[in-house]
Amino acid sequence: MLPIEGAFELLFPNTCNACLEVEAPHGEIMCVACQSKSTISELHQFRENEFTRHFWGRVPIYTGAAMYRFSKGGVAQNLISQFKYKGNIHIGTYLGKQYGSILKNQLLYKQVDMVIPVPLHFRKEGKRGFNQSEVFAKALAESMGKPCETKVLLRVRHTATQTKKSRQERLDNLTNAFQIKPGCKIEGKHILLVDDVLTTGATLEACALVLQSQNAVRLSLLTIGIGASV
Ligand SMILES: [Zn+2]
Repeated sequence: MLPIEGAFELLFPNTCNACLEVEAPHGEIMCVACQSKSTISELHQFRENEFTRHFWGRVPIYTGAAMYRFSKGGVAQNLISQFKYKGNIHIGTYLGKQYGSILKNQLLYKQVDMVIPVPLHFRKEGKRGFNQSEVFAKALAESMGKPCETKVLLRVRHTATQTKKSRQERLDNLTNAFQIKPGCKIEGKHILLVDDVLTTGATLEACALVLQSQNAVRLSLLTIGIGASV
């Protein structure tokens, strides 16, 4: 470590983003104890798994996986909330790079043509300052050696709270919120659609339906986490 970096770390200690207590080693986002508790899932090794099961009978997908299984108050969940709500963008980049380097060697993901993040409405993105799915997707794509396309799938409408609507009404409403940019050619492509967390799967389902309105699109889905919401 250079003396200047040492001084910087004294002024701004690199606190673990999962337990928020212990200092993380230089260049790491978690302390050693949290690292050992944060096990990356094996979901990407199986074409059908508990992630893809969420979409059975809803939308046809090729495969899908989540990097982490969430448990309430668990390491991975804290990590995402630091990323999503506290604006620690480097966490998303770090996770994307890490998972991308694993997927790069997985047969199921080798034929992916492009990575597409679920878009946020520009008003929401403006408020948060970034799109968390895009941050993760860009690092993931770079690590996989694939292009990340952020201008293909557009969010054209902001969706208000939908709790009083039926499932079908919610889905219709969500599907209308997304659109493929006119002139974009995605026919016959294998698209890896990326979101931050899989909870109900409604947003991913809506985006998937829009993308699959194009001929012969093969679609796979990926998130950072699956399980309890953050
Ligand atoms: Zn920790």
